[in-house]
Amino acid sequence: MRACFGVKTQLLISRVFSRPSTAVRWRAVQTRLLCSPPTGEEKPQHSMLRHLTTKIKATGPIPVAEYMREVLTNPVTGYYVTNDMLGPEGDFITSPEISQIFGELLAVWAVSEWMAAGRPEQLQLVELGPGKGSLASDVLRVFGQLRAVLGGASVSLHLVEVSRALSRLQAQSLTGSRGQEAHGEDEPAYRRGETGAGLPVSWYRRLEDVPAGFSIFLAHEFFDALPIHKFQRTQKGWREVMVDIDPEKPDQLRFVVAPSPTLASSTLVQVTDLETQLHTHTADTQETLFWFGTRQGFKGHRLHDVLSSPGSADLTADVDFSFLRRMAGGGVACLGPVPQRTFLKNMGIDSRMQVLLRSCGDASTRQQLIASYDVLTNPAKMGERFRFFGLLHPRRLARPAPPAGLKLEKKPSPAPLPVAGFTELGLS
Ligand code: SAH
Repeated sequence: MRACFGVKTQLLISRVFSRPSTAVRWRAVQTRLLCSPPTGEEKPQHSMLRHLTTKIKATGPIPVAEYMREVLTNPVTGYYVTNDMLGPEGDFITSPEISQIFGELLAVWAVSEWMAAGRPEQLQLVELGPGKGSLASDVLRVFGQLRAVLGGASVSLHLVEVSRALSRLQAQSLTGSRGQEAHGEDEPAYRRGETGAGLPVSWYRRLEDVPAGFSIFLAHEFFDALPIHKFQRTQKGWREVMVDIDPEKPDQLRFVVAPSPTLASSTLVQVTDLETQLHTHTADTQETLFWFGTRQGFKGHRLHDVLSSPGSADLTADVDFSFLRRMAGGGVACLGPVPQRTFLKNMGIDSRMQVLLRSCGDASTRQQLIASYDVLTNPAKMGERFRFFGLLHPRRLARPAPPAGLKLEKKPSPAPLPVAGFTELGLS
């Protein structure tokens, strides 16, 4: 069975990748990791600072999570809501924007998982935080090439996007003029459309609004944009770090430590106690405590002070995969995290590169193609730091039950089908 599944995935890969691509997207790239001096003038000062200082004056210092939520997703002045931050001219560039090979490989992954799930009649592709829509567009193009494999499955695309401005960009690239905003505020989808191939596309503010049905979720550079709380250990125990107005410079913000426990720090202490019971040695406990990670800001491809000009720069937090794994609980099977390099190589990026290089006569395009490959896979660039994590139905990794009526013999049931891209399989 293992070999059989491997062969199926290989077939998918060769079906999609044996021909040169019409429009491979590659760029001279800067990522969130590769910082370069900003070019041009600063963007205009946002009214976000005024909004935050008014709020702090009224209610007192705010948690870092609230600061992040306001700065990134405030419906009027939030960074994601008002900016076109992605791409070489924006503040940072992400893997799907660097090369379309990235999305193509994820498409093959999605189809192979759909096959392993028994080819359900319905296939909902759900993307959280789709940015410019490039990943979804690359995945759907490969779905089109694999129409014969997908058979009569009814495929639909569901995008969870908080930014109306970005949703318009996504609609432009995915549906052209075949879409429109929903009118009723109560409708779960705020925009609907149809791709050139006739696939329905819907946009939602919240994951809960996506209809139930067999779904494959993609969330690329999404979890790091979600708000985090920050804590500091003091002599009185764990205290929450808050954002306050600097008393000496009223138009500047600063971090302060809450003098007494907050709701979040009390929750942290409860979890900490539980973890101390689970992990008896301190080093382990210390490490797990920092699940909320560090904050980083990006503006013009440079690291940026997270409290200056709020709303004009991206803010991200390191994602703690072990925390995600614990929160997912026993109801799902977790895979990875594996480095991006490992995942892409397991998915056949090298063969894809060979086909593209063979068919590419232009020296500068070849160079750009090689540079993009290097950024995606080089351990010193995105290859090691960016990681892939999978959450699957536990049935997916369970040994198939023997057919009813058969006596259990000495032979064990066959091993579960391996999941493409991940080398190590494990249950949470
Ligand atoms: N996945 C894309 C973009 C990453 S940037 C890529 O890899 O290129 C983060 C994306 O998540 C943006 O589209 C942003 O608008 C969206 N986003 C951020 N917070 C969100 C939230 N709470 N709910 C839904 N979308 C969110």
